[in-house]
Amino acid sequence: MRRGLAWAAGVAGAAWAVHAAPAVTACTPLRRAVLPGLAGAGAAGHVALTFDDGPDHRSTPQFLRVLAEHDVQATFFLLASMLQHDPDLGREIVAAGHEVAVHGWAHRCLLWRTPGATADDITAARDLIAATTGVTARYYRPPYGVLTANALRTCRRIGLRPVLWTSWGRDWRARATPTSIVDTVAGRLAGGGTVLLHDSDCTSAPGSWQRTLAALPRIITLARDRGLTVGTLGEHLGEQAGEHAGERAGERLAERRVVSA
Ligand SMILES: [Zn+2]
Repeated sequence: MRRGLAWAAGVAGAAWAVHAAPAVTACTPLRRAVLPGLAGAGAAGHVALTFDDGPDHRSTPQFLRVLAEHDVQATFFLLASMLQHDPDLGREIVAAGHEVAVHGWAHRCLLWRTPGATADDITAARDLIAATTGVTARYYRPPYGVLTANALRTCRRIGLRPVLWTSWGRDWRARATPTSIVDTVAGRLAGGGTVLLHDSDCTSAPGSWQRTLAALPRIITLARDRGLTVGTLGEHLGEQAGEHAGERAGERLAERRVVSA
C-alpha cells in the first residue's frame, strides 16, 4: 500500500488530476461520499472484513487461525504472484470457508501500466485463482486502490466488480501498532462498511502483519460490540456465494454418474 497510495492521494495539481482522474478512488473520504458502491458499502448490520496482498505462508495461516477462533469468514484479495508460490494456501483459504478475490498479478500501480498490461494482469490473476482454488472470483481491488479506466473496462469485460473500502487500519506503515490499527479502523467502523487490512507484509513495512494480527481480535470484538455481523463481501453486498468452479465440476461429474447408473 504505502508509497503508491500516499503518493496517489497526496499529489495535487489540475493537470495531474485530469490525467489521472480515476486515481481519486484512492482517496477514502471522497470515494465514500461519491462512490458508495465502489467503496464496498453494503448491508446495514454487516461489516465486510477484507485482507490484501496474500497468500503468504509466513503470515496468512496465522490469520486463518484467528478467524477460525472467532468464527469469522473474510474476503482475501489475492496477489497471483504470491498465490503461484503458495497454491496450497490458496486452497486452504477457500476450504476454511473464506472468499477469494483478485488483487492482481503484480503489485504495481496501474497508472503506469499500458491498457494491454492492465488487462493481462487482471485476467491472468483471475484465471490463476480459478485454476488453483476452483473458485471464480467476483471482486477486484487494484494495488494501492488506484483504479484506472482500463482496469474498469477489463473488470466489466470479464465480470469482476471493483470494490475498494470504507475504512482501513493503515496497517502497512512501519510505525503502526495494534492499538493504532484498532483506533484507525474504529474511527470509520459502521454498519455497511468494508474494512481493509493486510495478511502479508510483502508490500508493507517488514513484520507489519504481526501488528495487524494482534489487532484483529479487537477489531472483530469492536464490530460485534457495535451490533455488527462480520463477514465476507459476498454476504455484505447481498450476493450469493461465488460460483465455485470446482463444485460445478463436481456436480457435473455426479450428474454423469447418475445418468450412467
Ligand atoms: Zn495491496
